[in-house]
Amino acid sequence: MTVHRVHNFNPGPAALPLPVLEEVRESFLDFRGTGMSIVEISHRSKEFEAVLNEAIARIRRLLGLDARHHVIFVQGGASLQFAMVPLNLLPGGSSADYVNTGTWATNAIREARLLGKTVRVAASSEDREFTYIPAKIDLDPQAAYLHLTSNNTIRGTQWARFPETGAVPLVADMSSDILSRPIPASRFGLIYAGAQKNLGPAGVAVVIVREDLLGRAPETLPTMLRYTTYTAKNSLYNTPPCFAIYVVERVLAWLEETVGGLEAMAAINRRKAETIYAVIDASGGFYRGTAEPTSRSQMNVTFRLVDAAREARFLEEAARAGLVGLKGHRSVGGCRASLYNAVSPEAVETLASFMRDFAKNG
Ligand SMILES: *Cc1c(COP(=O)(O)O)cnc(C)c1O
Repeated sequence: MTVHRVHNFNPGPAALPLPVLEEVRESFLDFRGTGMSIVEISHRSKEFEAVLNEAIARIRRLLGLDARHHVIFVQGGASLQFAMVPLNLLPGGSSADYVNTGTWATNAIREARLLGKTVRVAASSEDREFTYIPAKIDLDPQAAYLHLTSNNTIRGTQWARFPETGAVPLVADMSSDILSRPIPASRFGLIYAGAQKNLGPAGVAVVIVREDLLGRAPETLPTMLRYTTYTAKNSLYNTPPCFAIYVVERVLAWLEETVGGLEAMAAINRRKAETIYAVIDASGGFYRGTAEPTSRSQMNVTFRLVDAAREARFLEEAARAGLVGLKGHRSVGGCRASLYNAVSPEAVETLASFMRDFAKNG
């Protein structure tokens, strides 16, 4: 059966590895000999528990986590983590530092303040429209944690290296670059990521939280908003999003077994991003990258053309050539190619040659 597939550069939900989608389709009606679909079996069945535990084990292996870190699955996306992080980690009377590098960081700050929490902006790139990653952070050594957004999906910037925070736990929203490269995981107190960019379908967020931070939550916190509900029950206090977790586990298997782990993934991702940035930089100003070169993201390549009319024609002709999802976020306009793990080097080469041709003719 031939299926129509395009080159998918969507920012999220985004492309997933084709072999994973095919496997999910193949096993959809009879999951591992149960005679039931993955969406029909109990979340307390041994079959589902095996999926859940395998997903956790794979994340632990890929990131090299030690016993101090818990891996849990939570619904509500990254946006619920904007609230859960301060609710659990920022008790009354203390203050947290945040780095503001764009929309998602701004939302995280706003959410913490909405809860009446004390938040300091320890660094910001707002002065130049979030086009760079701040080099210096005015860290409060007493801060409950330092929060940053590892990859800024909308502005196309990414932390190349993470700041040293001493005794202050580092907390990161890694929604759009988790498992795209190796990270020094032991330095993080908490990492969270909505699944729908680099991990799987929408509907679940992965949270990695260090044991010593779990004791800070107040008694009055609702059950579903406290991390210990998930860590104590292996994310099975209530019904988790079984299908999303199943697909995440298969994507992790692809990452470990087909790609060969994070070093290999990072090398592929670096080449993909370099391919598109090279086209931009060689275009004599036809394409203009919006992020400062040293802050460029390897996941989301943001660029402009000379005017809105030319951008509209670029997007239209790209779509006709089977290259979709290249429109910039509605808040900033322009164009954006999201090159997440599952976007193949072939898709990126096709985009690069389309961009070169369009610049020549257009
Ligand atoms: C997409 C995104 C979010 C929002 O994720 P939801 O799961 O939709 O809440 C938050 N942070 C970053 C960095 C993102 O890319």
